[in-house]
Parts: sequence; C-alpha cells; structure tokens
Amino acid sequence: MKRIALLTSGGDAPGMNAAIRAVVRTAYHFDCEVLGIRHGYQGLLQDDIIPLTPSSVGDIIQRGGTILLTARCDAFKTDEGLAQGVATLRREGVEGLVVIGGDGSFRGACALAQHGIRTIGIPGTIDNDIPGTDETVGFDTALNTAVEAIDRIRDTASSHDRTYVVEVMGHHSGAIALAVGMAAGAASIMIPEEEPDLERVLRQLNQAAARGKKHPIVLVAEGAAHAMEVGGFLKDHIASEVRVTVLGHIQRGGAPSARDRILGSLYGTQAVHLLLEGRTNQMVGMRCGRVEAISFDEVFSSVHQTNLSLHTIADILAV
Ligand code: ADP
Repeated sequence: MKRIALLTSGGDAPGMNAAIRAVVRTAYHFDCEVLGIRHGYQGLLQDDIIPLTPSSVGDIIQRGGTILLTARCDAFKTDEGLAQGVATLRREGVEGLVVIGGDGSFRGACALAQHGIRTIGIPGTIDNDIPGTDETVGFDTALNTAVEAIDRIRDTASSHDRTYVVEVMGHHSGAIALAVGMAAGAASIMIPEEEPDLERVLRQLNQAAARGKKHPIVLVAEGAAHAMEVGGFLKDHIASEVRVTVLGHIQRGGAPSARDRILGSLYGTQAVHLLLEGRTNQMVGMRCGRVEAISFDEVFSSVHQTNLSLHTIADILAV
C-alpha cells in the first residue's frame, strides 16, 4: 500500500491529534504516503485534501480539537455523495482510509468499504459510548476537565453552604456522569439509562444532610433531565440555596490527558498496521487492556453497555 488518507468526522475530541500524528508517522515509517482530508466527509466531497508529512504533524500531540478539522455532512449519506467520495479517493490513488470519529462516521467508512476502499476506524468521542471498545479517545480528558471544574464549583459551594446541580455531557450514555460523579464525590447522579427520579435525588440529599453534608453536588447527564428543572425542583424542597451550572462544551476542549495521547498513539499506529495487512471494515479498540480490531458489523450490531455498577458504588460512597 503506497498511499492512504485520513479524516476526522463528527464531534471533535481531545487526543484526535495524537491519533493523526501516529497514523502519519507510522505510515511514513513503512514508506506509505498520507493525505489529510479536512472537514471530514464534507472535505472529501469538496476536494479539501492536503498532504501530511511527519513534520506537518509535529507540535500537535498536546493540542485539543483536530488539526484536520471536522464536520457533519448529510450529502455523504446519499448514493451520489458516496459515489463522488469513492471517485475522489480513486483519483487520488488512495488505497486505504483511516476515519477518526464516532459510530456515525464509521457508517460512512463502512459504506466506502463496500465500494472497495479499505477503511479502518478509530473511536474518537468524549462520550465513551461506542460498542466494542472499553475506551474512546477523548473520554479521559473530558472526565478530568469536568472533575476539575466541579472541584472549583465545590469551593464556592462549601463557602456558601450551597447545593449545586451540575450538568455534564451524555445524551444517551451516563458514562461521563457516572465516572465524573464518582471522581468528584457527587451526592446524587442522574443518567439517561435510568428513569428520572427526583424523589430519589431528594432522599439522597436528605441522607447526606443528615450526616452533616452542607454543600452537595447533584450530577445530571444532559440526556437524563434538564439541570434547570432539577434545580427548580430542589429549590422548592430543600432548605439550602441551590445553584445550577451547565458545563457544556468546555468538556470537549483542552489539552488531551496523557491517557488520551497514549490511546490516540496506540490506535493510530494499529490502524496503519491493519491497513498494511490488507484489513478493512474494522475499528481499532481497547478490550481488557489490549488493542484489538473489531469489525464494523460487530460495532453496529452491539449496544453500548454503561457500567451501572459504578452508580451503586458512587451512591454508597456518597453517604
Ligand atoms: P459521530 O461520528 O460522532 O457519531 P455523526 O453521527 O454526526 O457523528 O456522523 C458524522 C458523519 O458521518 C455524518 O455527518 C455523515 O457525513 C457520516 N455518516 C453518518 N452516517 C452515515 C451513513 N449511514 N452513511 C454514510 N455516511 C454517514
């Protein structure tokens, strides 16, 4: 294989740049050129393609976001868009493509594979909700960012004896909320996998208050409930002042953690090895501490399972 291409797609995640660097440098190690497609599949349809060299990916491992830029592109989901993408890759002499993104981006990669373009996916999303891998690039940084933010909020909460409701990301998965809740010592956690139960939150706050806690944190995943509504309910039911903070996109940005840099580097390296071995239609993932390849079919046919035992443990530790 003499030439491969690389794109980032969907939401950005810290550590994507480490993966880009690893793909480019591993490919060059094996005398294979790399083209970077900017703005995901949109750039593929707009010929927004640049050569990537070992030096052009220097000084990026420590940067958040993605130097290749990312986008969502509905036109690529159509037959015409897909045909145009295949034609562009063939014209450029691209024999393999690495796609860094979430499961939506992998569906695009899978469609390309069905047209003879070898594709390998690297899971990059802060949500850690992709089946078939224990870890996605970006999750660890997002956790650390959220925990640091909550530690700061806690300083104010404790100085004023206030209750804080903090909303973190996670439309469909409570992975961030559970991990952050445990690491930040939240008194109560609401996740989308469970029915919203404000009476339960109230019970947990009352239990915490009974043992003397004066400044509890209630952690709400965005898909579980609206933090403002949770805050409004609590204001009517508890004595302490209540404040609400929505962390929002600060969770997506920032310098990647050491873990995400390492993960991006391992996944990027493995993605190139797989392409050079002639593999296609697969995602690189981490299972029980080992970097492995999983077919896109397995990714698409599986359902992400949030580790709900974390909730039980976090609840016990909160009281
Ligand atoms: P993520 O990769 O983070 O899950 P999206 O679901 O938004 O993000 O998908 C990113 C992009 O992947 C879409 O904008 C589209 O260009 C491409 N894509 C998603 N689903 C498909 C599909 N079924 N066929 C082709 N391309 C797809």
